[in-house]
Amino acid sequence: GTFKDREILLHKPYLVVEGVILAGLVLGATRGYIFIRHEYAAQIEALRRAIAEAEMQGVCGSQILGQNRSFSVEVVESPGGYICGEQGALIEALEEKRAQPRNRPPQLETNGLWNKPTLLSNVETFAWAVPIAILGGSWYADQGLNGCKGLRFFSISGDVKRPGAYEVPIGLPLGELLNRCAGGTLDGQPPAAVAPSGPSGGFLPVMLPLDGKRLPDTLKATLPPGATHLDILDLPLDLALFRQLGLMLGAGIVIYGQGTDMLDQALNCAEFFRNESCGKCVPCRIGSQKLVEIAEQFAHSRGKASDFDSARGIVRELALAMEMTSICGLGVAAPNPLISWMKYFRSEPAQRPAKTEGQGKPKSAESSR
Ligand code: SF4
Repeated sequence: GTFKDREILLHKPYLVVEGVILAGLVLGATRGYIFIRHEYAAQIEALRRAIAEAEMQGVCGSQILGQNRSFSVEVVESPGGYICGEQGALIEALEEKRAQPRNRPPQLETNGLWNKPTLLSNVETFAWAVPIAILGGSWYADQGLNGCKGLRFFSISGDVKRPGAYEVPIGLPLGELLNRCAGGTLDGQPPAAVAPSGPSGGFLPVMLPLDGKRLPDTLKATLPPGATHLDILDLPLDLALFRQLGLMLGAGIVIYGQGTDMLDQALNCAEFFRNESCGKCVPCRIGSQKLVEIAEQFAHSRGKASDFDSARGIVRELALAMEMTSICGLGVAAPNPLISWMKYFRSEPAQRPAKTEGQGKPKSAESSR
């Protein structure tokens, strides 16, 4: 579900290469690496072309712009694997070791690649660095909505008419990303579920039960008194707000249409995390397999009450153990799809409680820009 960087690298490789060069020169570094999955042949070629052009123009390589400064950039083809997105594992892979996260401290800022101080950041951050440096911080910040600052890319996929990567103001309501950018759901109905952080954050019903959640004042003001549910399509795409609500917001949003078998999706995600666990921590290595077995058992009995009650406690215990003992986020996130299915979707397909009139009216992109 997360593919916005793939589009940035293919269509705007210069932004990324320029951002890496700028970062290197500011820090006094001498070498930069762009680490990319080997399957992305077109993106690798686009980056190599952009680097070659920068070298021809004398802004990359030795004696940059005739000065006594050198900074080379090279593309490294990753052996692949979801875990290579974790920064310690990425550094290990760059050093041609097995890609497993490192224990921290020490941090990469002091002991990174080849044990040297290392700056590591993601594609989109580098892509924004040069426009912000040239046009100014307020140019960027002023484009946010609903109290948020700046722009960012989201990928949206699943049961939508126009899946893709979209550059939108931070704070844009999720429903606008779905309806205005992605053209709405395939059947024109409200989605049955949304994964706002790919598989990592689990699945949410569109009408999220408030269950005594403490809401920030800005959000409370948009709800009628006594509201029991929150329409997540009204939620601004604001990381801080999602965190306050105990939810995750990533760069890839997956929409599930009515009639989707959410247990099947939970099983699929559990298998994904089991397959991608690097095996360094025992609770993640064993626990991710156990989660698959439980999800399979649910799928077999279709969540029969007796199976469910005996397994629910085990899933919770596993989740707690994995959260407390995992070195990286994969082990923490692995139980989320199954837990969210148990919490919101077990008894029946997601229902959409009627929306109370006047509920949730964050600023739209159209009304503010
Ligand atoms: Fe590897 Fe899982 Fe431990 Fe992460 S949590 S280091 S993926 S075993």
